[in-house]
Amino acid sequence: MEKGNFNLIKSININGILEIIRAKGPISRADIAKLTSLTPASISKTTKKLIKIGILEEIGIGQTTGGRPPIMLKLKSKAAYIIGVYMGPNSLDFILADLDGVVITEKSFKLKNHTKDYILRNLILNLKEIINNTEEEIFGIGIAMNGIVDISKGISVFSPHYEWKNIELEKILEKELKLSVIVDNDVRAMARGEGKFGVAKESKNFLVVNISEGIGSALILNGEIYTGGNYSAGEIGHITVEEHSTKRCSCGNYGCLEALASTKAMIENIKYKLMIGEQSKYLKYENIDLDKIIKAAKKGDRLARDLIIENAKYLGKALATVINIVNPNLIVIIGEINKIEGLFYKNVETTIKRYGLTTTLKNLEIKPSILQEKSATIGAVTLILENLFKGKRILSHKV
Ligand SMILES: [Zn+2]
Repeated sequence: MEKGNFNLIKSININGILEIIRAKGPISRADIAKLTSLTPASISKTTKKLIKIGILEEIGIGQTTGGRPPIMLKLKSKAAYIIGVYMGPNSLDFILADLDGVVITEKSFKLKNHTKDYILRNLILNLKEIINNTEEEIFGIGIAMNGIVDISKGISVFSPHYEWKNIELEKILEKELKLSVIVDNDVRAMARGEGKFGVAKESKNFLVVNISEGIGSALILNGEIYTGGNYSAGEIGHITVEEHSTKRCSCGNYGCLEALASTKAMIENIKYKLMIGEQSKYLKYENIDLDKIIKAAKKGDRLARDLIIENAKYLGKALATVINIVNPNLIVIIGEINKIEGLFYKNVETTIKRYGLTTTLKNLEIKPSILQEKSATIGAVTLILENLFKGKRILSHKV
């Protein structure tokens, strides 16, 4: 699609046809008519224009219900690109993706410090480089970042990892880059990505749990993200799972799930056990990471296996609490812990069964993410994709 055609699209898009095709496509013109109050002639005329501009394409014949088989329409995947950014504790990860979420290019920038100026400068520099190297139209930049984010204002309210508070990230980046920007919390963006491109495509009520240095979660209820009153919903990491624990959490309490079952907690736990003399054939105190723990567990190392089982039980206990309240049909787990599969999931499920109500456990599935380490950047792309035709201001970078 030629640059600058987006304004034209917006003027044609008075009927929301593009939004229907984006959300439901591939879809026939007849089915678009059923979902709108538009006449078939008007839909034909509009879609013809959109095909000519290059945002739509016909992709063959759909199922017939008796008459002539319909021609299906979908957004042309390479009509334009979207940039997805994950602002994590240790790096800034960037992808350039097409409208089907297929990654075209990717890069990662390792953070050497967490000061505001350093992070903003390198975020902008890396984004400018991607924009300047991209010939095609870019529809916008989605940002998935750690901490509390007010998506309605594009403000990073609080970041536990960066030295900043109340940063107007959307405003700063839009001014600097002349592209539309949407900022959301990383786990909520992951949930959007899982719902659009991942294992939760068919689900309207699901929970996404991200296990990394901390433990975060996001809830999708009736197909909508639930943010809570202060954009703080989903803090599963701060459910108390061990009342008499001496492990202090970053929130100040003791015995939170995050303090006991995050990647950081697991590593600290193994180190402590080795220090007090527990034996492991494969793990050495000096250089432990989750990957090494998982590899040791796969080889049958008792210390590593016990740790993973304990971890699964803590997670299962916290999940049962959430399940009993919101009754999701699917739980998606993101994180390196998925590499262990069987041992971990078996124990999560057993614990959920122990603490969860029978009625809430009916039809419940627990699955690993298929987007995995790309779940945050793909989620960031989804932020823009979901808002493409909903009136969010779209600027062209070639102005
Ligand atoms: Zn806590």
